[in-house]
Amino acid sequence: MEQSIESYIKNLVRDVIGQNLGGLELQCDRQTYVIANWKMNKDLNETAEFFQKINSSHDVSVVICPPTQLLYPTQLFIKQSGKPIGLGGQNVHWADKGAYTGETSGSMLTDVGSEYVIIGHSERRQYSFEDDELVNKKVQQALKSGLTPIICIGETLGQKSAMQTEQVLSKQIIGALKDIDTAHFILAYEPVWAIGTGQSATAELAQETHAYIRSILRQLMGQKAEGISILYGGSANERNAAEYSAMPDIDGVLVGGASLNAHVFDVIINAFAKGEQNS
Ligand code: PEP
Repeated sequence: MEQSIESYIKNLVRDVIGQNLGGLELQCDRQTYVIANWKMNKDLNETAEFFQKINSSHDVSVVICPPTQLLYPTQLFIKQSGKPIGLGGQNVHWADKGAYTGETSGSMLTDVGSEYVIIGHSERRQYSFEDDELVNKKVQQALKSGLTPIICIGETLGQKSAMQTEQVLSKQIIGALKDIDTAHFILAYEPVWAIGTGQSATAELAQETHAYIRSILRQLMGQKAEGISILYGGSANERNAAEYSAMPDIDGVLVGGASLNAHVFDVIINAFAKGEQNS
């Protein structure tokens, strides 16, 4: 696959910096993210209203992933607000361009100001039958387009009950990262049983699972694993955010329902801003 010069240089710089700082990353703070996944919610007016209310924070990387038709106006609202907020897509196609009705390419996402893209969300795995191989192709395309992939992994309730969580997660991680030799991605642990159910994982369980995920990343990429942000997702909200932020391997949250209200989302952002100041 051909790569644009711009994305080639971006990836090269990331890889070189990642390698040279590999040893230092052990002492450096990992980047903390609070990312909103709006799913198929909000219209133009509601989006404008959200940006009038949101405060955000300079201590945390805040990213909004609106539905595709709102990406461009959201970019304008972010600029107008002057706030340090990033923009992300909720999905990307694996191909550069072509006859793929209803799909969105990586360059279309960057064209409207996106820097991130969610890949492999459990809803897409469930409703659009995305498997690890497709997730991997999308991760490759995202990197090639200069986007930071936010790769979602997580076990179902049945898999959890059958004590298969570690097996499922390691398979998803290894599958998603096949032939990927950069550490330029974010991983989101989203237990399927916790998404949209109000049944969030306890901070202790999430920490334990994140530590396991990092151990798999260490096996795959050595020291670079220390610099990878691993986010928790699944009914994260304004009441439990502070508990997650206190955990050493929870580097932020991917938030669905609770990200739709600007005030609630601000409380979550502040929980992680404080967590970062205290660490
Ligand atoms: C999500 O779908 O990414 C998510 C975390 O949703 P919720 O916060 O609503 O559980």
